[in-house]
Amino acid sequence: MPRTHAALPRLYIDADLAPGVPLTLGKEQSLYLAAVLRKTVGDEVVLFNGRDGAWLARLTGDSKKSVALELVQQIAPQSPPSDLWYGFAPLKTERLDYVIQKAVEMGAGTIQPVLTRFTQVSRLKHERLVANAIEAAEQCEVLRVPIVEPEVTLDRLIDSWPADRRLILADEGEASSSPVEVLGRLRGQKIGVLIGPEGGFSDEERARLRALPYVVPISLGPRILRADTAAVAALAVIQAIIGDWR
Ligand code: SAH
Repeated sequence: MPRTHAALPRLYIDADLAPGVPLTLGKEQSLYLAAVLRKTVGDEVVLFNGRDGAWLARLTGDSKKSVALELVQQIAPQSPPSDLWYGFAPLKTERLDYVIQKAVEMGAGTIQPVLTRFTQVSRLKHERLVANAIEAAEQCEVLRVPIVEPEVTLDRLIDSWPADRRLILADEGEASSSPVEVLGRLRGQKIGVLIGPEGGFSDEERARLRALPYVVPISLGPRILRADTAAVAALAVIQAIIGDWR
């Protein structure tokens, strides 16, 4: 992918990005730019807000409490949102941070924690998940932060699943095989992918899911992957075969 301004810091902000709009950053981002990165007046950064593409901005004020910026020019048009739905049974703290970041890097558009029978956590700190998604979006140069949904039980998920979307089930009980052909048949369709918890899906959950018309079970090979490995492996094969790795 042609990269421009790769060396500049990238920051997600919520404000509109339009020519002539002076911007002032909040305390946290100001501290990061002025103190941590020691940016001063005249230095440049890249800003994005998920709506207006990527903009080159220049510091006009470098106060550690409120950095002021002027917008120079748009350097990338806004990309369309990813329609790839990613559901996963949340893991414990630092591995949860990891999974959120990998889902963003792998191009998920919606990130949905799903509470299954063997899921080890029940309450999630939503703002922490969103902060991880923003940090990953800044780092991997996407122009939009994926939607991070509040956690939902598997039952609720099934009850509300849209009929027009296929759900790819990473099923550790599936006989080892390559998912290339199965995934190839989903080309052009709305899809989601669901990864189970450390303890895997319960037998009842697997049976229930596999009986649903919109569920497409896949194997991720002959070895049992850790849930966070499975997340990256599943998203990689999906993006490579029918996703945006084109
Ligand atoms: N530790 C459990 C397995 C859980 S792995 C056990 O030993 O039974 C966590 C999740 O990763 C699974 O629920 C599944 O969604 C996915 N996964 C891991 N290995 C897989 C494989 N070989 N094929 C398909 N999915 C896999």
